[in-house]
Amino acid sequence: MVLRVYNTISGQKEEFKTLEPGKVKMYVCGPTTYDHSHIGHMRTFAFFDVVRRWLEERGYSVTMLINITDIDDKTIRRANEEGVSFAEIADRYMFDFINALRSYNIRLPNIMPKATSVIADMYYVIQTLIDKGHAYVAEDGVYFDVSTFPDYGKLSGQKREFLLTGVRIEPSPHKRNAGDFALWKKRKEGEPFWHAPWMEGRPGWHIECSTMIWKYLGEQIDIHGGGNDLIFPHHENEIAQSEAFTGKKPFVRYWMHVGMLKINGEKMSKSLGNFIVWFDALKMAPAAAWRLYYAMNAYRQPMNVTEEGINNAYEATKRIYRTELALKQAIEDNELGDMEYSPDKRWKQFSERMDDDFDTPGAVAALMELINDVGGKIYKMNENSAENTLSVLRKMMYTLGMPEIEVDERTKRIIDEIVALRTEFRERKEYEKSDAIRATLAEAGIELHDGKKGTRWFLLP
Ligand SMILES: [Zn+2]
Repeated sequence: MVLRVYNTISGQKEEFKTLEPGKVKMYVCGPTTYDHSHIGHMRTFAFFDVVRRWLEERGYSVTMLINITDIDDKTIRRANEEGVSFAEIADRYMFDFINALRSYNIRLPNIMPKATSVIADMYYVIQTLIDKGHAYVAEDGVYFDVSTFPDYGKLSGQKREFLLTGVRIEPSPHKRNAGDFALWKKRKEGEPFWHAPWMEGRPGWHIECSTMIWKYLGEQIDIHGGGNDLIFPHHENEIAQSEAFTGKKPFVRYWMHVGMLKINGEKMSKSLGNFIVWFDALKMAPAAAWRLYYAMNAYRQPMNVTEEGINNAYEATKRIYRTELALKQAIEDNELGDMEYSPDKRWKQFSERMDDDFDTPGAVAALMELINDVGGKIYKMNENSAENTLSVLRKMMYTLGMPEIEVDERTKRIIDEIVALRTEFRERKEYEKSDAIRATLAEAGIELHDGKKGTRWFLLP
């Protein structure tokens, strides 16, 4: 089996080959921590979590870094509005981001540095760029001179002349070229600053990613990810800085970008007021359903979130968990038959889809076919078949980030008691009471299944 990855820089799916055998160095641009993360951010981090899990399934050891942009116009603005330091804003929303990752069952990265933790290293990178003639000190900051880097535009595929018209670029009368971007910004009134060798001030945004990658992962990495809104200018500028600094090409082997997220066909924006922050989304459906919903959408395409869409994903999620829990229970209670079933075909299908540039919609289809295969037959399967099916199902769910449900002993005892009480009512033919208990439990995500061997209960997400 060959893993193929779509590389933004070539516009093609390429065979995945790492710099070092068996090891993957992976960097994903993290959040600017000035507000709560929304479901568009979660889409990106959930996807790269799936990438990491699949690479590990394929035997790679993955080192993943996500950065925290703690110093930025937005953190400063918010700090000034609230009359607190930028660091307080940055930490508040960094902790919020960590909560969001945990809540969505996104594994935390191996390294998660803040921009301000690598300021001294930035001095070195910037000074080296100045010494090599790629950067210059101007009155209002230190700039990267894009005219010294002929490859500029190779990621976004735009012509340099076009880029240099500078439509989306901060204006400054002190730049040599309109496309030049700030590595260091001169101190402004009311802004935090550091004592850099050139002038007091703060770092530009792009330099933090180049610096952290060099410091923590090395001169070249395997995968660099982010939302596709970062391709230009952010990632283009990272390439220019890093390759000019180290002289090594390519800085990144595979550039991977996740499509934007829309709500009911509209772009999410502050002005439209249609932002869905991560914890509000969890009131609509649990994290497992969001993970499945994300996976049902091809990562490079835009994803249109609708109420119907998340509801359908939630229904599918419940079907998946019902099957998983029934398998576990059937094995545990030895309530099995002699039917043979092999999940191997479905695992092969799932793996082929994942190996094809992380085609998660195709992988979800394989998962749902496995669910269909065994639907209604779980208690007829023999032990070996049931165990293999459960193991394959769990691997698929794990890959897609659907967490295993843990029920602690105390909760289990309480539910058992309530279910026993309902059974008593049923035996006394007090169906109004027993039905009321069933309905209340269902609202709490606890489903009852009355069978020959009594009532089973499943705690669904
Ligand atoms: Zn970045």
